[in-house]
Amino acid sequence: MDLSLTDEQKDIRDTARAFIAREVMPLEPEVLQRERRGEKGITPQELSDLQAQARRFGFWGIGTPTEHGGANLSPVTQSLVWTEVGRTFVPFVFGGDADNILFRATPEQQQEYLTPTIEGERISCFAITEPEAGSDATAIRMRAVRDGDDWVLNGEKTFITKGVEADFSIVIAVTDPEQGFRGGFTAFLVDRAMGWTADPIHTMGPSTPASMGFVDVRVPHRNVLGEVGEGFRLAMEWIGRGRYVIPSQAIGATERLLGMAVQYANERRTFGKAIGEHQMIQTMIADCELDLEQARWLVLVAAWTVEQGRDARHESALAKLGGATAAGRVVDRVMQIHGGMGYTRELPIERWYREARLWRIFEGTDEIQRRAIARDLLAGRRRIGGHLA
Ligand SMILES: Cc1cc2nc3c(=O)[nH]c(=O)nc-3n(C[C@H](O)[C@H](O)[C@H](O)COP(=O)(O)OP(=O)(O)OC[C@H]3O[C@@H](n4cnc5c(N)ncnc54)[C@H](O)[C@@H]3O)c2cc1C
Repeated sequence: MDLSLTDEQKDIRDTARAFIAREVMPLEPEVLQRERRGEKGITPQELSDLQAQARRFGFWGIGTPTEHGGANLSPVTQSLVWTEVGRTFVPFVFGGDADNILFRATPEQQQEYLTPTIEGERISCFAITEPEAGSDATAIRMRAVRDGDDWVLNGEKTFITKGVEADFSIVIAVTDPEQGFRGGFTAFLVDRAMGWTADPIHTMGPSTPASMGFVDVRVPHRNVLGEVGEGFRLAMEWIGRGRYVIPSQAIGATERLLGMAVQYANERRTFGKAIGEHQMIQTMIADCELDLEQARWLVLVAAWTVEQGRDARHESALAKLGGATAAGRVVDRVMQIHGGMGYTRELPIERWYREARLWRIFEGTDEIQRRAIARDLLAGRRRIGGHLA
């Protein structure tokens, strides 16, 4: 068993780290100021300028196949890059990526939706959640009824990331209520111009998802993504990717936070010594390191399982649960180690605290990951002992 990175992986990680440190982290004070004024942390123009700059270093389409101009990095290498991105709270991502299921589009759809998304000319969002269907995505009600060459969509979606700014949405709707999620859901590519409405939902973090309304929205049949009836499978494929990307970012944030705690524990003095010399502070630092390393290896195993072309659902559930919960515990301890300063807006810890809370909720809550993990074991789909069993 060789757990080391290849030289190429180290190079990519180090270049990403240098780029984030040099070009992105300096924006942090301004991002905090803007967010506190209720504005977006970075403007679309600033984001696309940074992405264009990163493109010169080869960071373009880290998960995008080369025939679409991407770097097509392996899932493990992608995970390493996402960890570097997670080291800053600036809402930055490398450019050239698109929703994984858009690659299943027809050549005509690719021209209209995929390529402009990769190039950053169009913004997409993905909409499955509804007011009455979150964790239980099989309970969605949005109807799509065939009418000649069109489908007519009626219903509501909620909590849709980028729903306010997106040019188009991948929408999962019910095309055959009798078949339900097993063949009765379909994915549609729906332009904003086709008539859906979006209202922002204000959250405790930097994310402002949207509630989306569809009243007799007509979508041409040629905008069906994949096959009619294939929507649920595509939705699970879309969500599956996030389950190692989100915790990869969480690891980056956790590393940075722990670094802040170590530095503060060495500098801050109470009762005549550095607080790092108090055993209760040491316990917190050790527990942070334990959380971080456990999460790191769960995430890398999940990414590696994807890379092997194996069914990675179990490993991804462990990675999402492990990464999100570890980050939550670490940010809490790091705040505690900083005492009153940790609670202020002079430091970004409270900013991370609010953002990290989301990681335990979206793209499958902690409970939904636990449910998946336990059911795999109870049903004998997974043997205890994982890959080594
Ligand atoms: C900021 C943000 C961005 C989002 N972005 C998107 C997006 O882009 N696209 C999209 O489609 N959705 C998005 N979502 C929706 C998100 O995926 C859902 O909020 C999430 O899946 C939980 O669904 P829910 O909110 O309806 O909670 P519910 O499903 O109502 O769950 C409520 C509570 O019950 C628990 N629970 C539910 N079922 C079980 C069970 N079987 N066993 C034990 N406990 C259970 C849950 O874990 C939770 O604690 C986003 C949400 C947020 C907050």
